Amino acid sequence: MILILKKNLNEEDIQRIIERVREAGLTPHISKGEERIIIGLIGDSRAKDREYWLNMNGVEDAIRILRPFKLASREFRKKNTVVKVDGIEIGGKGVVVMAGPCSVEGRKQILNIAKIVKDLGAKILRGGAFKPRTSPYSFRGLGREGLLYLKEAKEKFGLPIVTEAMSIEQLDLVAEYADIIQIGARNMQNFSLLEAVGKIEKPVLLKRGMSAKIEEFLLAAEYILSNGNRDVILCERGIRTFETYTRNTLDISAIPLLKSITHLPVIVDPSHATGKRELVTPVSLASIAAGADGLLIEVHPEPEKALSDGLQSLYPHQFKELMRKGKVISEAIGRSIL
Ligand code: PEP
Ligand code: MN
Repeated sequence: MILILKKNLNEEDIQRIIERVREAGLTPHISKGEERIIIGLIGDSRAKDREYWLNMNGVEDAIRILRPFKLASREFRKKNTVVKVDGIEIGGKGVVVMAGPCSVEGRKQILNIAKIVKDLGAKILRGGAFKPRTSPYSFRGLGREGLLYLKEAKEKFGLPIVTEAMSIEQLDLVAEYADIIQIGARNMQNFSLLEAVGKIEKPVLLKRGMSAKIEEFLLAAEYILSNGNRDVILCERGIRTFETYTRNTLDISAIPLLKSITHLPVIVDPSHATGKRELVTPVSLASIAAGADGLLIEVHPEPEKALSDGLQSLYPHQFKELMRKGKVISEAIGRSIL
Protein backbone atom coordinates (compact mmCIF):
# COMPACT_ATOMS: atom_id res chain seq x y z
CA MET A 1 0.00 0.00 0.00
CA ILE A 2 1.15 3.56 -0.61
CA LEU A 3 -0.34 6.63 1.01
CA ILE A 4 -0.51 9.87 -0.89
CA LEU A 5 -0.66 12.73 1.58
CA LYS A 6 -2.64 15.93 1.11
CA LYS A 7 -0.74 19.00 0.01
CA ASN A 8 0.66 21.47 2.53
CA LEU A 9 0.56 19.26 5.60
CA ASN A 10 2.66 20.46 8.47
CA GLU A 11 5.38 18.36 10.06
CA GLU A 12 3.17 17.45 13.01
CA ASP A 13 0.45 16.01 10.74
CA ILE A 14 3.03 14.01 8.82
CA GLN A 15 4.57 12.61 12.01
CA ARG A 16 1.11 11.61 13.25
CA ILE A 17 0.49 9.57 10.09
CA ILE A 18 3.94 7.98 10.31
CA GLU A 19 3.17 7.02 13.91
CA ARG A 20 -0.05 5.30 12.83
CA VAL A 21 1.86 3.39 10.15
CA ARG A 22 4.29 2.13 12.78
CA GLU A 23 1.43 1.22 15.11
CA ALA A 24 0.09 -1.02 12.34
CA GLY A 25 3.39 -2.93 12.45
CA LEU A 26 4.62 -1.44 9.16
CA THR A 27 7.73 0.49 8.23
CA PRO A 28 7.10 3.82 6.50
CA HIS A 29 9.20 4.61 3.44
CA ILE A 30 8.87 8.33 2.93
CA SER A 31 9.34 9.89 -0.46
CA LYS A 32 9.22 13.68 -0.69
CA GLY A 33 8.29 14.83 -4.17
CA GLU A 34 8.14 18.41 -5.37
CA GLU A 35 4.46 18.68 -4.57
CA ARG A 36 3.52 15.77 -2.42
CA ILE A 37 4.71 13.32 0.13
CA ILE A 38 4.18 9.64 -0.53
CA ILE A 39 4.57 7.01 2.16
CA GLY A 40 5.21 3.43 1.15
CA LEU A 41 4.08 0.90 3.72
CA ILE A 42 6.70 -1.81 3.98
CA GLY A 43 5.56 -5.08 5.50
CA ASP A 44 2.35 -7.03 5.35
CA SER A 45 -0.24 -4.29 5.04
CA ARG A 46 -3.20 -6.61 4.38
CA ALA A 47 -4.45 -6.38 7.97
CA LYS A 48 -5.65 -2.83 7.35
CA ASP A 49 -7.87 -2.14 4.37
CA ARG A 50 -7.84 0.88 2.12
CA GLU A 51 -10.69 2.52 4.02
CA TYR A 52 -8.66 2.46 7.21
CA TRP A 53 -6.01 4.67 5.66
CA LEU A 54 -8.44 6.85 3.72
CA ASN A 55 -10.19 7.76 6.97
CA MET A 56 -6.98 9.12 8.38
CA ASN A 57 -6.60 12.88 8.55
CA GLY A 58 -4.16 14.16 5.95
CA VAL A 59 -4.31 11.11 3.69
CA GLU A 60 -5.63 11.94 0.24
CA ASP A 61 -5.40 8.53 -1.34
CA ALA A 62 -4.30 5.00 -0.57
CA ILE A 63 -3.24 2.76 -3.42
CA ARG A 64 -2.63 -0.93 -3.11
CA ILE A 65 0.37 -1.95 -5.22
CA LEU A 66 -0.37 -5.38 -6.53
CA ARG A 67 3.05 -6.07 -7.93
CA PRO A 68 5.41 -7.95 -5.63
CA PHE A 69 8.01 -5.21 -5.99
CA LYS A 70 6.63 -2.04 -4.47
CA LEU A 71 9.23 0.70 -4.14
CA ALA A 72 10.68 -0.20 -7.54
CA SER A 73 7.31 0.00 -9.26
CA ARG A 74 5.99 2.75 -11.49
CA GLU A 75 2.89 2.85 -9.30
CA PHE A 76 5.03 3.99 -6.38
CA ARG A 77 6.80 6.67 -8.39
CA LYS A 78 5.48 7.96 -11.67
CA LYS A 79 8.50 10.07 -12.56
CA ASN A 80 11.78 8.51 -13.63
CA THR A 81 14.40 8.24 -10.94
CA VAL A 82 17.48 10.15 -11.99
CA VAL A 83 20.66 8.98 -10.27
CA LYS A 84 23.20 11.79 -9.97
CA VAL A 85 26.90 11.01 -9.86
CA ASP A 86 29.24 14.01 -9.76
CA GLY A 87 26.75 16.06 -11.75
CA ILE A 88 26.14 13.29 -14.32
CA GLU A 89 22.50 12.28 -14.56
CA ILE A 90 21.72 8.61 -15.16
CA GLY A 91 18.10 8.14 -16.13
CA GLY A 92 17.76 11.68 -17.52
CA LYS A 93 17.70 12.83 -21.11
CA GLY A 94 21.21 11.77 -21.97
CA VAL A 95 22.59 8.32 -22.62
CA VAL A 96 25.51 7.83 -20.23
CA VAL A 97 28.44 5.75 -21.42
CA MET A 98 30.53 3.98 -18.78
CA ALA A 99 33.65 2.40 -20.22
CA GLY A 100 36.96 0.86 -19.27
CA PRO A 101 38.62 -2.52 -18.90
CA CYS A 102 37.04 -5.59 -17.39
CA SER A 103 39.76 -5.63 -14.71
CA VAL A 104 42.21 -3.09 -13.41
CA GLU A 105 45.47 -4.82 -14.34
CA GLY A 106 47.99 -2.19 -13.36
CA ARG A 107 48.59 1.53 -12.94
CA LYS A 108 49.73 2.22 -16.49
CA GLN A 109 46.91 0.20 -18.04
CA ILE A 110 44.12 1.97 -16.19
CA LEU A 111 45.57 5.47 -16.61
CA ASN A 112 46.08 4.80 -20.29
CA ILE A 113 42.56 3.52 -20.95
CA ALA A 114 40.97 6.16 -18.72
CA LYS A 115 42.46 8.89 -20.89
CA ILE A 116 41.37 7.13 -24.07
CA VAL A 117 37.74 6.61 -23.02
CA LYS A 118 37.51 10.09 -21.53
CA ASP A 119 38.77 11.68 -24.75
CA LEU A 120 36.25 9.63 -26.73
CA GLY A 121 33.31 10.78 -24.61
CA ALA A 122 32.80 8.24 -21.82
CA LYS A 123 31.46 9.86 -18.67
CA ILE A 124 32.21 7.15 -16.11
CA LEU A 125 35.19 4.79 -15.80
CA ARG A 126 34.60 1.09 -15.19
CA GLY A 127 37.17 -1.41 -13.97
CA GLY A 128 37.06 -4.32 -11.56
CA ALA A 129 39.45 -4.51 -8.61
CA PHE A 130 37.65 -7.50 -7.11
CA LYS A 131 36.75 -9.92 -9.89
CA PRO A 132 34.25 -12.75 -9.71
CA ARG A 133 35.89 -15.47 -11.82
CA THR A 134 34.52 -18.87 -12.69
CA SER A 135 37.86 -20.50 -11.99
CA PRO A 136 39.78 -19.81 -8.78
CA TYR A 137 42.97 -20.03 -10.87
CA SER A 138 42.06 -17.10 -13.11
CA PHE A 139 43.18 -13.51 -12.43
CA ARG A 140 40.90 -12.29 -9.67
CA GLY A 141 41.81 -8.64 -9.55
CA LEU A 142 44.31 -6.44 -7.72
CA GLY A 143 41.99 -5.71 -4.80
CA ARG A 144 42.90 -2.61 -2.78
CA GLU A 145 45.81 -1.80 -5.11
CA GLY A 146 43.37 -1.70 -8.03
CA LEU A 147 41.13 0.70 -6.14
CA LEU A 148 44.08 3.04 -5.56
CA TYR A 149 44.82 3.09 -9.30
CA LEU A 150 41.17 3.81 -10.03
CA LYS A 151 41.34 6.72 -7.59
CA GLU A 152 44.39 8.09 -9.37
CA ALA A 153 42.63 7.78 -12.74
CA LYS A 154 39.61 9.58 -11.33
CA GLU A 155 41.74 12.42 -10.02
CA LYS A 156 43.70 12.76 -13.26
CA PHE A 157 40.81 12.59 -15.69
CA GLY A 158 37.78 13.57 -13.64
CA LEU A 159 35.90 10.37 -14.37
CA PRO A 160 33.73 8.91 -11.59
CA ILE A 161 34.31 5.23 -10.92
CA VAL A 162 32.04 2.20 -11.11
CA THR A 163 33.56 -0.92 -9.58
CA GLU A 164 32.29 -4.15 -8.08
CA ALA A 165 31.95 -5.24 -4.46
CA MET A 166 31.63 -9.01 -4.22
CA SER A 167 30.99 -9.39 -0.52
CA ILE A 168 29.92 -7.55 2.61
CA GLU A 169 33.53 -7.67 3.85
CA GLN A 170 34.66 -5.70 0.78
CA LEU A 171 31.84 -3.20 0.89
CA ASP A 172 33.30 -0.46 3.09
CA LEU A 173 36.59 -0.50 1.22
CA VAL A 174 34.95 -0.42 -2.21
CA ALA A 175 32.52 2.30 -1.11
CA GLU A 176 35.47 4.46 -0.11
CA TYR A 177 36.71 4.57 -3.71
CA ALA A 178 33.67 3.88 -5.88
CA ASP A 179 31.18 6.50 -7.01
CA ILE A 180 28.87 3.68 -8.06
CA ILE A 181 29.04 0.27 -6.42
CA GLN A 182 28.48 -2.58 -8.84
CA ILE A 183 26.69 -5.70 -7.68
CA GLY A 184 27.53 -8.38 -10.22
CA ALA A 185 25.25 -10.86 -11.93
CA ARG A 186 26.49 -13.68 -9.70
CA ASN A 187 25.51 -11.74 -6.60
CA MET A 188 22.12 -10.49 -7.72
CA GLN A 189 20.43 -12.71 -5.18
CA ASN A 190 22.99 -12.39 -2.42
CA PHE A 191 20.34 -10.96 -0.17
CA SER A 192 22.59 -10.00 2.72
CA LEU A 193 24.90 -8.12 0.35
CA LEU A 194 21.86 -6.37 -1.16
CA GLU A 195 20.68 -5.36 2.29
CA ALA A 196 24.13 -4.09 3.20
CA VAL A 197 24.47 -2.00 0.04
CA GLY A 198 20.94 -0.72 0.69
CA LYS A 199 22.22 0.87 3.88
CA ILE A 200 25.03 2.75 2.13
CA GLU A 201 24.57 6.20 0.62
CA LYS A 202 26.14 5.48 -2.74
CA PRO A 203 24.48 4.68 -6.06
CA VAL A 204 24.31 0.97 -6.87
CA LEU A 205 24.58 -0.60 -10.31
CA LEU A 206 22.66 -3.85 -10.01
CA LYS A 207 23.27 -6.40 -12.73
CA ARG A 208 20.64 -8.89 -13.75
CA GLY A 209 21.49 -12.42 -12.64
CA MET A 210 22.33 -14.74 -15.50
CA SER A 211 19.18 -16.78 -14.96
CA ALA A 212 17.03 -14.18 -13.24
CA LYS A 213 13.50 -13.42 -14.33
CA ILE A 214 12.52 -9.75 -14.53
CA GLU A 215 10.49 -10.12 -11.36
CA GLU A 216 13.43 -11.61 -9.47
CA PHE A 217 15.62 -8.80 -10.77
CA LEU A 218 13.22 -6.17 -9.48
CA LEU A 219 12.78 -7.93 -6.16
CA ALA A 220 16.56 -7.81 -5.80
CA ALA A 221 16.37 -4.04 -6.42
CA GLU A 222 13.60 -3.92 -3.83
CA TYR A 223 16.00 -5.31 -1.21
CA ILE A 224 18.26 -2.31 -1.80
CA LEU A 225 15.46 0.26 -1.95
CA SER A 226 13.67 -1.03 1.13
CA ASN A 227 16.87 -0.59 3.13
CA GLY A 228 16.89 3.10 2.33
CA ASN A 229 19.09 3.45 -0.74
CA ARG A 230 17.03 4.90 -3.57
CA ASP A 231 19.82 5.24 -6.12
CA VAL A 232 19.60 1.94 -7.95
CA ILE A 233 20.59 1.58 -11.60
CA LEU A 234 19.41 -1.62 -13.29
CA CYS A 235 21.77 -3.28 -15.76
CA GLU A 236 20.65 -5.82 -18.35
CA ARG A 237 23.74 -7.89 -19.19
CA GLY A 238 22.28 -10.87 -20.99
CA ILE A 239 20.82 -14.07 -19.64
CA ARG A 240 21.87 -17.65 -20.14
CA THR A 241 19.96 -19.54 -22.81
CA PHE A 242 20.55 -22.62 -24.96
CA GLU A 243 22.49 -20.47 -27.45
CA THR A 244 26.25 -20.87 -27.37
CA TYR A 245 27.40 -18.63 -30.22
CA THR A 246 27.09 -15.71 -27.87
CA ARG A 247 28.25 -15.71 -24.24
CA ASN A 248 24.74 -14.79 -23.10
CA THR A 249 21.55 -13.72 -24.84
CA LEU A 250 20.73 -10.04 -24.56
CA ASP A 251 17.11 -9.62 -23.52
CA ILE A 252 16.50 -6.46 -25.52
CA SER A 253 12.82 -6.41 -24.60
CA ALA A 254 13.84 -6.07 -20.94
CA ILE A 255 14.79 -2.45 -21.66
CA PRO A 256 11.35 -1.05 -22.62
CA LEU A 257 9.67 -3.49 -20.24
CA LEU A 258 11.70 -2.35 -17.24
CA LYS A 259 11.25 1.28 -18.26
CA SER A 260 7.50 0.79 -18.20
CA ILE A 261 7.10 -1.11 -14.93
CA THR A 262 9.78 0.66 -12.88
CA HIS A 263 11.00 4.23 -12.47
CA LEU A 264 14.63 3.17 -12.14
CA PRO A 265 17.28 3.91 -14.77
CA VAL A 266 18.08 0.99 -17.07
CA ILE A 267 21.48 0.52 -18.66
CA VAL A 268 22.87 -2.26 -20.86
CA ASP A 269 26.16 -4.14 -20.82
CA PRO A 270 26.60 -5.42 -24.39
CA SER A 271 30.10 -6.74 -23.61
CA HIS A 272 29.01 -9.48 -21.20
CA ALA A 273 25.75 -9.97 -23.11
CA THR A 274 27.54 -11.00 -26.31
CA GLY A 275 31.06 -12.02 -25.32
CA LYS A 276 32.28 -11.01 -28.78
CA ARG A 277 33.74 -7.60 -29.53
CA GLU A 278 32.39 -7.48 -33.08
CA LEU A 279 28.84 -7.68 -31.70
CA VAL A 280 29.26 -4.98 -29.08
CA THR A 281 28.67 -1.93 -31.27
CA PRO A 282 25.53 -3.14 -33.10
CA VAL A 283 24.03 -4.37 -29.84
CA SER A 284 24.88 -1.04 -28.17
CA LEU A 285 23.06 0.82 -30.93
CA ALA A 286 20.03 -1.45 -30.58
CA SER A 287 20.05 -0.86 -26.83
CA ILE A 288 20.06 2.91 -27.24
CA ALA A 289 17.24 2.62 -29.78
CA ALA A 290 15.25 0.48 -27.33
CA GLY A 291 15.53 3.17 -24.64
CA ALA A 292 18.59 2.33 -22.57
CA ASP A 293 19.71 5.16 -20.27
CA GLY A 294 23.32 4.13 -20.55
CA LEU A 295 25.89 1.57 -21.64
CA LEU A 296 28.60 -0.29 -19.78
CA ILE A 297 31.34 -1.13 -22.24
CA GLU A 298 34.60 -3.03 -21.85
CA VAL A 299 37.46 -1.32 -23.65
CA HIS A 300 41.12 -2.30 -23.36
CA PRO A 301 44.25 -0.67 -24.79
CA GLU A 302 45.45 -4.12 -25.92
CA PRO A 303 42.55 -6.59 -25.68
CA GLU A 304 44.68 -9.54 -26.79
CA LYS A 305 46.75 -9.07 -23.61
CA ALA A 306 43.79 -8.58 -21.26
CA LEU A 307 43.80 -10.66 -18.08
CA SER A 308 40.02 -11.08 -18.29
CA ASP A 309 37.36 -10.80 -20.98
CA GLY A 310 39.75 -9.87 -23.80
CA LEU A 311 37.53 -11.35 -26.51
CA GLN A 312 34.68 -9.00 -25.70
CA SER A 313 36.81 -5.92 -25.03
CA LEU A 314 36.81 -3.25 -27.71
CA TYR A 315 39.94 -1.77 -29.21
CA PRO A 316 40.00 1.99 -28.68
CA HIS A 317 39.26 2.63 -32.38
CA GLN A 318 36.16 0.41 -32.11
CA PHE A 319 34.99 2.36 -29.08
CA LYS A 320 35.42 5.55 -31.05
CA GLU A 321 33.16 4.13 -33.75
CA LEU A 322 30.61 3.03 -31.16
CA MET A 323 30.47 6.57 -29.76
CA ARG A 324 30.11 8.10 -33.22
CA LYS A 325 27.23 5.82 -34.22
CA GLY A 326 25.68 5.94 -30.75
CA LYS A 327 25.41 9.71 -31.02
CA VAL A 328 23.48 9.39 -34.29
CA ILE A 329 21.01 6.86 -32.83
CA SER A 330 20.60 8.88 -29.63
CA GLU A 331 19.78 12.00 -31.58
CA ALA A 332 17.35 10.08 -33.81
CA ILE A 333 15.26 9.26 -30.74
CA GLY A 334 15.48 12.72 -29.22
CA ARG A 335 18.29 11.99 -26.77
CA SER A 336 21.97 12.68 -26.76
CA ILE A 337 25.05 10.82 -25.66
CA LEU A 338 25.96 12.71 -22.53
C1 PEP B 1 31.87 -7.25 -15.05
O1 PEP B 1 31.19 -6.22 -15.24
O2 PEP B 1 33.08 -7.28 -15.26
C2 PEP B 1 31.18 -8.50 -14.63
C3 PEP B 1 31.83 -9.45 -13.97
O3 PEP B 1 29.91 -8.55 -15.03
P1 PEP B 1 28.72 -9.62 -14.71
O4 PEP B 1 28.53 -9.58 -13.22
O5 PEP B 1 27.57 -9.06 -15.48
O6 PEP B 1 29.16 -10.94 -15.23
MN1 MN C 1 34.19 -8.53 -17.64
